[in-house]
Order: sequence, then C-alpha cells, then structure tokens
Amino acid sequence: MISSKTAFFALIGNPVSHSLSPIMHNAVLKHLGLDLVYLSFPCEEIDFEIVINSLNKINCKGVNITIPFKEKVIKYCSYISPIAKKIKAVNTLKPTEKNEWHGINTDVAGLINPLEKLYLKNKKSIVLGSGGASRSAIQGLIDLELSEIIIVSRNSYAIENLLKDFKDNSNIKGILSNSLDIHDYMNSTDLIINATPVGMKHKNNVNEELPFGLNFWKSLHSKTIVYDLIYNPKETKLLKHCKTKGCHTINGTKMLIAQGAKSLSYWMDGLDIPLDIMEVAIKDYL
Ligand code: NAP
Repeated sequence: MISSKTAFFALIGNPVSHSLSPIMHNAVLKHLGLDLVYLSFPCEEIDFEIVINSLNKINCKGVNITIPFKEKVIKYCSYISPIAKKIKAVNTLKPTEKNEWHGINTDVAGLINPLEKLYLKNKKSIVLGSGGASRSAIQGLIDLELSEIIIVSRNSYAIENLLKDFKDNSNIKGILSNSLDIHDYMNSTDLIINATPVGMKHKNNVNEELPFGLNFWKSLHSKTIVYDLIYNPKETKLLKHCKTKGCHTINGTKMLIAQGAKSLSYWMDGLDIPLDIMEVAIKDYL
C-alpha cells in the first residue's frame, strides 16, 4: 500500500514512456515487501538542473538517468565511478547524507551479463553505432578481454571521439559503415553487437530495415553471435534475419534486467535482487 511514508526511485529522461524499468522495478519492490515505488518522469533539457537538484531534497532514494542526460548529469555528481568517468555516462544516482549525488554506471555490467558464459576471451567483435550504448558495449568487451573491437558507424566525427576516449586500447578500430573492408570483418567476427536503435518498436509499429541495410549483412558467418541491445520487440528484424543464417542470437532483455538489478542493489546497499521476478514482470507485460 502506498502511504505517506512511501519513498520513491525516479527515472529521468526524454522520452521515458517506452521504458520497462518501472514495470520490473515495481514488481521486485512489491515482491521484496519494500515501502518504495519506482516512477518515471519525462524531463525537458531546460528543466534538468532544477529537477536533479530538487530530487535529493525530497524522499527520493535513487535515480536512473536515461537518454539524453547520461553525460549531462556528470556535473551534478560529487563522485562518479571510474567506469562512468571513462565512458562519460552515468545511469544511476544515489543520494548522500549531505544531499549530494554519487553516480555510477550499471549499463556495462548489465550488457556483459548475457555474454559472460560464452567464452569470448581473445575473440573478435564488431559494435554497430557510436552513441551511449556503444560506449558501454566497448567497455564491456574490453572487460571480457576480446582481441579485436571494430566500431562501425555512419558518423566519422562520433568514431573519432570514441577512439579518443578509448585511446589506451590499441585493439579498437573504427570504420564507416560504407567501407569496403566491412565484409572481411563481418565474415571473420565472432560477435556483433547492435547498439543502434534500428529495429526498435515505433509508435506506428513499423520496424525499420536492418542496421546499415541488407547488403551490409551479406558476409555474415553462421558461427557469429549476434547481440541486439533492443528489447522491444523481443526479436528484431535483425535477430530474425541472423537466426535464419544459423547465428546464435541474444536480445536486450537480459541487459535491461541486469543493469536494473545492479542499480537497485546499489541503492539498497548490496541487497540481493531476484532477477527472475523482474524477468517474469517484463515477459507478462510485453
Ligand atoms: P544513441 O546515443 O542515440 O546512439 C545511437 C547510435 O545509433 C548512434 O551512433 C547513431 O548514429 C546510430 N544510429 C541511429 N540511427 C541509425 C540508423 N538509422 N542507421 C545507422 N545508425 C544509426 O542511443 P543509445 O543510448 O546508444 O541506444 C542505442 C540502442 O541501444 C537503443 O535501441 C536502445 O534502446 C538500446 N539500449 C538498450 C539497453 C538495454 O538495457 N537493453 C540499454 C541502453 C540502450 P548517428 O550518430 O549517425 O546518428
């Protein structure tokens, strides 16, 4: 029951209406019998500062930050974790006793969760896209000790910036999506991560084509694992296509759950979070 003592967690971003975080967090909070709720708040860019500076003055016990504020929020934190600093993205805030924010990144740990048991050490990988999720993917692949990380993007400026932030990792290269070299990389890679939004469910329910078009995928090998970070729809057009080519496919649901559970555990000082409750809540909702 919600009472006058009930405290809350908040998701701040724009848009937030598509997010499944309230579904899985509220299911697990109820299961654990905690007097807390998780609410999402759409926020305009111009209001971000006042919103973030106000939340720690009321009964907010933690915040998730999503697009487009993961980098912007850094300047409002009195501490950020080394990984969040490196990839320039904070997705989780915890209030301190002094009413300050500590910021961490749980996307990286969430992203590698479904990859951890796949023995990817010294294997080759490709990451599609050069935005926020791509940064988490690259850091995750560094942590898993892959031998080669190729970033593919249509945006040369974004590739340059990414490479600067990962300059200490000589096994990372960036190429444009229309480069002729792409087919050699595609044919020999062990893992491809789609970190573009191509294939996400839209309001009009029409899925776009495959990231970078069908021709881009013509050299795909059946041994390649294809990991699409999108979780809605559960199986994107890309995953369907790769499955017909014999590839092992993974969608973004496990990442979503693992990063959410890490955030909740951080807010609750290390509490064990039952992932299965979150998983069932999402499955029932979708
Ligand atoms: P972002 O920062 O906006 O970056 C998107 C990237 O995709 C950019 O490099 C962009 O390139 C590229 N892109 C956009 N439209 C494209 C198109 N039509 N063709 C080719 N490239 C395109 O977004 P993000 O935060 O990284 O999120 C990316 C995806 O990851 C989203 O689908 C999101 O739902 C998913 N995600 C999932 C989870 C999870 O928990 N499962 C967590 C985070 C993100 P340009 O610079 O050229 O526009």
